[in-house]
Amino acid sequence: TPVTIIITVIGVIAIVALVTVAVLQNRPLAQKYKYGIVLDAGSSHTALYIYEWPAEKDNNTGRVEQTHSCKVKGPGISSYASAPSRAGESLRDCMQEAKLRVPGKRHLETPLYLGATAGMRLLNIENSSASDVVFHAVEEALQKSPFSFQGARILSGQEEGAFGWVTVNYLDDRLKQGLETTGALDLGGASTQISFVSDNFDGSESPENAVAFRLYGNDYNLYTHSFLCYGKDQALRMVLAQQTQSGPGTILDPCFHPGYNETKNYSVLYDSPCVSDRKPQGAPATFTHLGKGNFSQCLDVVKSIFNFTYCRYSQCSFNGVFQPLLQGPFGAFSAYYFVMNFLNLTDTSIPLDTVRKKLTSYCSTPWDQIKQQHPDVKVKYLAEYCFSGTYILTLLTEGYNFTSESYPNIKFIKKIKGSDAGWTLGYMLNLTNMIPAEAPDSPPLPHA
Ligand code: AMP
Repeated sequence: TPVTIIITVIGVIAIVALVTVAVLQNRPLAQKYKYGIVLDAGSSHTALYIYEWPAEKDNNTGRVEQTHSCKVKGPGISSYASAPSRAGESLRDCMQEAKLRVPGKRHLETPLYLGATAGMRLLNIENSSASDVVFHAVEEALQKSPFSFQGARILSGQEEGAFGWVTVNYLDDRLKQGLETTGALDLGGASTQISFVSDNFDGSESPENAVAFRLYGNDYNLYTHSFLCYGKDQALRMVLAQQTQSGPGTILDPCFHPGYNETKNYSVLYDSPCVSDRKPQGAPATFTHLGKGNFSQCLDVVKSIFNFTYCRYSQCSFNGVFQPLLQGPFGAFSAYYFVMNFLNLTDTSIPLDTVRKKLTSYCSTPWDQIKQQHPDVKVKYLAEYCFSGTYILTLLTEGYNFTSESYPNIKFIKKIKGSDAGWTLGYMLNLTNMIPAEAPDSPPLPHA
């Protein structure tokens, strides 16, 4: 009858409604995230990184991921020594982006850090009051942000190296699982870092290169060293300074392409503690920088900025710095990646001899042709790839002692699972206590 049909339909609707309510009640609440922001004040530029993690898991199992990055327009903050307020202003656009990216209700609780590296280390050596003024200006700007500003400071070389290593191994999920770790090779503009775990290093031979960590229940004795002045921009200054020693006026530079011809200022070249003591007496104001495009001669001048003559330890990399035997895989990031990626040399199964041949041919290519082939690449970078490639090869093989056998252990990387390789993530994980010393409790056994 129609009545029984109506009753049946109402019954079915009621059952469907009850089931829906039950399912909805069991569904977890919409995922909530927490955020952290780190500004990497590098020597050539500043970058802002936003990290995100599930709110209920922040101090053990939750994975922290980079959700956004923003490149600050203009040079690094150390270049604003004579106009510090502009250092603060330069951060405005990226801070604005951060406000839009982090949900408003999380702003107040989101920690914001600024860490400066070798550009500011050098400014601090050269003129510590100038570096204080720059810090004051950026702090003032960041205090005005809605985030929880935790301060601006210069990282030590050890911290920069160690946090880069933490980042790489955290992102690769090697720490929680206690797997063999990956070494970290970081090349900046003003310094370069090498960090790795080696079985024959316990810190006793050279305590200044040792960082001990206990992470997720595992102990690590990390070897780390930061070479100030051996970032690629300062290394280039040292190579140029080396070549002006033969007489001021003109440099015929094997590390630049044939046909490259620029007039440059001596005062600009020597405006750095990495080279200031080598300024020639009575030099003219400018010099002519001419390219010659000869890879093997470039190797020779690049080698001349490394000192291999003394070592008071069982073994050294260069400049008398202790280095244990290389061990395990390595990730090489920042400028290592930019340069090797441009040169199509990120594949380390390419034998070193072939890498040298490719650089020989690349360096000897006329400058006009290089510019024509790469109209979209910044001319400053473009002019320097021959030098930079030669420098990277020399640093890795002569400096750190990578051989034909161990070179394939290096991977040139930019990102791991969407997050940039660099010290910033490791720095934030450390400051927010997000990597516990002990392994988190194992999850309860499933209900049988
Ligand atoms: P820093 O500013 O100290 O982190 O150093 C970054 C280094 O990477 C500087 O030497 C920059 O010149 C260099 N760099 C950044 N982007 C590129 C690029 N696309 N090609 C070559 N070098 C780059």
